[in-house]
Amino acid sequence: MAGLKVYLLKYTPDPELVVAKAAKVCYSRLSGEGLLGEIDKEEVRRLIRMLWNRGHLSVFEHASFTFSISGVSRALTHQLVRHRIASYSQKSQRYVDEQKFEYVVPPSVIKDPDARVRFQALMEEIRACYENLIKAGIAREDARYVLPNACETSIVATFNARSLHNFFRLRCCFKAQWEIRRLAYRMLSQVKRVAPTLFENAGPPCISEGICHEGIHSCGRILRVKIAREGARLERVEGN
Ligand SMILES: Cc1cc2nc3c(=O)[nH]c(=O)nc-3n(C[C@H](O)[C@H](O)[C@H](O)COP(=O)(O)OP(=O)(O)OC[C@H]3O[C@@H](n4cnc5c(N)ncnc54)[C@H](O)[C@@H]3O)c2cc1C
Repeated sequence: MAGLKVYLLKYTPDPELVVAKAAKVCYSRLSGEGLLGEIDKEEVRRLIRMLWNRGHLSVFEHASFTFSISGVSRALTHQLVRHRIASYSQKSQRYVDEQKFEYVVPPSVIKDPDARVRFQALMEEIRACYENLIKAGIAREDARYVLPNACETSIVATFNARSLHNFFRLRCCFKAQWEIRRLAYRMLSQVKRVAPTLFENAGPPCISEGICHEGIHSCGRILRVKIAREGARLERVEGN
């Protein structure tokens, strides 16, 4: 088990400035070479917040972010690649030998000593079976059919900022599975470092919209968010 690793490999240089410039085209007379100049940082923040409040999120698509993700299960990447508005390149089980494959053990299994022993024993059995198939001359592309969902993999993913917001909205929520939720929070903290205003409202609906769609299945965080927001509002109104 190598463990989850997430690196922000590359991103649009000055992502917030690029988005602000695209907003300027929509909402001012600036165009062409007029967009080559700098925009004051405060104005950049104002424009991004205006886009967010208006729901004019197509402008966020001008900034993109590429992540290198490893130490995750194939179960996770199957969920990840369902996000169609992104580009992916994943380690191939056709071309890469998996005789020494690592695997992800869910925390619930780690906590249960009996389940953990049985889980690990099966992984060893699968390794031996895969190895025997390869030794018998079966091609990797066919031998891989015995590999588990737990099998570790690596993937490079490129999202634009709008699609990332959708990803964080769905996958930072407590209803998302623990592994992809962990990944989503790691990705969120990395993009917040380089584009804090673009992602200041990113997260599950309780954060991004101030509502929860889960009804009786709600984790209850919405109440804490509402209390915190009300506290902040009162501080502003009463100035204390
Ligand atoms: C908690 C949870 C449970 C899930 N359970 C299941 C499950 O049981 N089974 C299952 O199959 N999937 C499941 N999913 C996956 C889910 O259905 C989505 O496929 C996945 O979250 C990607 O979301 P998306 O379509 O919004 O993202 P993207 O594919 O990145 O799309 C982004 C947005 O673009 C628009 N869009 C993209 N493609 C189209 C299109 N063809 N037509 C119209 N609009 C489009 C939509 O507005 C969409 O929200 C689950 C997801 C979550 C978060």
